Amino acid sequence: MTEPAITVRAFFERARAGQLVAIRCGSCGELAIPPKELCPKCHARAWREEPLAGNGTIASYTVIRVAPRAHAAGVPYAVAVVALKEGVSLLGRIVDIPLESLAVGMPVRFRPFVAPDQQPSIGFGPA
Ligand SMILES: [Zn+2]
Repeated sequence: MTEPAITVRAFFERARAGQLVAIRCGSCGELAIPPKELCPKCHARAWREEPLAGNGTIASYTVIRVAPRAHAAGVPYAVAVVALKEGVSLLGRIVDIPLESLAVGMPVRFRPFVAPDQQPSIGFGPA
């Protein structure tokens, strides 16, 4: 009997509350975020929660200038893949950083971000 892994829904609810949680495979030690059903490395299902500090650097980013209707009010905005210091990467919305100052390698910090469509999401702001 394995511990139930944190669900994707719970992951985003926790993120919305300001807590970034990854899961670590109890079999091979692989760290994953957001939660997955099976370990991508060893296919075990033996996850345990691991809180993350939320600090990382921008690995890549895209500025969105034409967005789906639900996000139209927010354009332009940037989304970035952030390499967290724990060794995993996570896609998030850039918050409170001028778009023209964005750069690969820039240090950022996780923060809750709620999109206009009320879907809780991941944000990254100044470190
Ligand atoms: Zn594993």
